[in-house]
Amino acid sequence: MLEKNALYVVATPIGNLRDISLRALDVLGKVDLIAAEHVQNSQHLLATHAITTVKWISLHQHNEAAVSEKILTLLDSGKSVALVTDAGTPGISDPGAILVRQVRAQGYPVIPVPGANAAVCAMSAAGIMNPHFLFYGFLPAKSGLRKRELITMQSYPYTLIFYEAPHRILECIADMLEVFGPDRELTIARELTKLFETIHAGTLQQVLDWLQADANQQKGEFVLLLSGAEVPEKSEISDQARHTLICLLAELPLKQAVKLTAEISGENKKVLYQLALDLKAAGDSG
Ligand code: SAM
Repeated sequence: MLEKNALYVVATPIGNLRDISLRALDVLGKVDLIAAEHVQNSQHLLATHAITTVKWISLHQHNEAAVSEKILTLLDSGKSVALVTDAGTPGISDPGAILVRQVRAQGYPVIPVPGANAAVCAMSAAGIMNPHFLFYGFLPAKSGLRKRELITMQSYPYTLIFYEAPHRILECIADMLEVFGPDRELTIARELTKLFETIHAGTLQQVLDWLQADANQQKGEFVLLLSGAEVPEKSEISDQARHTLICLLAELPLKQAVKLTAEISGENKKVLYQLALDLKAAGDSG
């Protein structure tokens, strides 16, 4: 039985059309109206599950506010409505938040029907030991803004999760390399649940080289999982080495300052490199 006056937020597959829950099919087959990002795509999905009899409305990022008003009128009259997007979970790098806020503000139930999500799907198969992650979604399309955004995340000790489009994948990873240095680990999850599903991991430099060597690997949809900053224990670096690094950073490019400090102090180069990035970020923002 469906609840009346309710908005169901229903996750749909991210590729394989069978990745949809029994409950999702149940709800989508019974609601009075389905709001979908691209009606035709969602009709195709439901047709493969023998559901053809529902009413549709198009809801996308450019009309979400106006369509939300219409949906509220329907809820007022006792109807039930489902929201789906083209792929995965609505509201996650997808429309949904405006509608959900308006429905909740009117006091009607918003009922999530969980299912596929590209970020979680990628994490589940990446074997990343760090239990903490930060989902960012899409970075800015322009390189300057993208790098500025990445710099703010340099010292985050969490796995960073990004979505990226095929036409920006190379330049995006090249920017990551510039901002995070060559040694951070990147897992690239491409075309999840589809024919050409690929999950590949290496350092940023290795993954960039691998992608550049094979144009086929640059096609499709991507989730990028970038390892977080290693947080050095305070005691890991002596005050003397820290002082040396600060002095050298004032005079030399970052890599050279780190190399010399490591030679002078005998401290771990990786740890010094991260400290240098942190010092630089603190200096730039202060
Ligand atoms: N709402 C979706 C979710 O729950 O994951 C995300 C929608 S967002 C508009 C689309 C982006 O998600 C793609 O550009 C890609 O970065 C990622 N994505 C979606 N499906 C994917 C798949 N099958 N494999 C890899 N990434 C995918």
